[in-house]
Amino acid sequence: MVITSKLPEIGLTIFSEMTRLALQHGAINLSQGFPDFDTHMELKELVAKYIRAGHNQYAPMQGVGALREIIATKTRQLYGAIYDPATEITITTGGTQAIYTAVTAMIHPGDEVVLIEPAYDCYAPIVRLNGGIPVYAALDFPSYRIDWDAFRRLINSKTRLIILNFPHNPSGAVLSAKDLETLAAILRPTPVLILSDEVYEHIVFDGLSHQSMSRHPELRQRSFVINSFAKTYHTTGWKVGYCLAPRPLSDEFRKIHQYMVFAVNTPIQHAYAEFLEDNQRYLSLPSFYQAKRDRFLHLIRKSRFRPLPCHGTYYQLLDYRQISEEPEMQFARRLTMEYGVAAIPPSVFYHRGDDHNVLRFCFAKKEETLNAAAERLNII
Ligand code: GLN
Repeated sequence: MVITSKLPEIGLTIFSEMTRLALQHGAINLSQGFPDFDTHMELKELVAKYIRAGHNQYAPMQGVGALREIIATKTRQLYGAIYDPATEITITTGGTQAIYTAVTAMIHPGDEVVLIEPAYDCYAPIVRLNGGIPVYAALDFPSYRIDWDAFRRLINSKTRLIILNFPHNPSGAVLSAKDLETLAAILRPTPVLILSDEVYEHIVFDGLSHQSMSRHPELRQRSFVINSFAKTYHTTGWKVGYCLAPRPLSDEFRKIHQYMVFAVNTPIQHAYAEFLEDNQRYLSLPSFYQAKRDRFLHLIRKSRFRPLPCHGTYYQLLDYRQISEEPEMQFARRLTMEYGVAAIPPSVFYHRGDDHNVLRFCFAKKEETLNAAAERLNII
């Protein structure tokens, strides 16, 4: 049988690869981004409650009404953005599906899509599978800020979409209000659309506030804002997210969504709808994760790793140049196999493999996990 692969050079994702290596070598897994502590008991009870109450058949294609309503309320309160739950909010099977659906709905063969590097691993393959052409703007190193002049030069008549991801995975960079203004000015004379992956929206530190595309009246009109409950409620395994977009964009999004997944897990949607009523659950997240970031940095302060600034997400980049000149992939493998700590090499998030001798460590971990990892990192 001859199979012509659509993604010939793609193998297992770096997250699966490093997690597998960690398991194989009994290493502490700070690579793939997921908490090693459980979600809230009350949320688990709510899922059980809705299953017992018989909410076990298809949900509406666009999502459970109560969940779309509470998302609309939350988005209005946090960002002053009005989205109609009936037509402009769609529940998805996680952030990745929402990204796939939005790109599929918008990209025609030959359209250019601007990606900001380092770029989360699914963006370029999704663009290419839809016949789009990824073009790349690299964040400045080591500030991980957007070079707006370089960005501006990439925009031309073929540009259809730009994909943004702030708070940024893997660097932890965030956007400022001024960045939104600059972006709005650059895009004003163009029909370019935005896909904004904001799954770390509630994990922003140091008193900064999340600059959602939905905050900006002009940018909102051309944006798919993608979100997820995974990082907010420690439920990466439940795979429920959502897409906010103005009516004409949401209409096209839903045409694809209805054939890609049709509808999303019903009892979990009901449970989230009820749990979201308590806004303290997400408003307390910055201090919860900032304490973990600070604890991790404190524990490794005497090591030979040097932290880069991290203003959001649950990832911390560490520079290892005092220890080794090996490329990131090689050092990440050796760190896992010889020292028992797994991390992610950000070079895999660049199409040319740019290597800055830094690794990404996930600090969404229990105190004892961070202690044990730090003990190992401190002796290298
Ligand atoms: N988003 C998670 C990370 O960046 C990984 C998700 C996955 O394994 N695909 O680590």
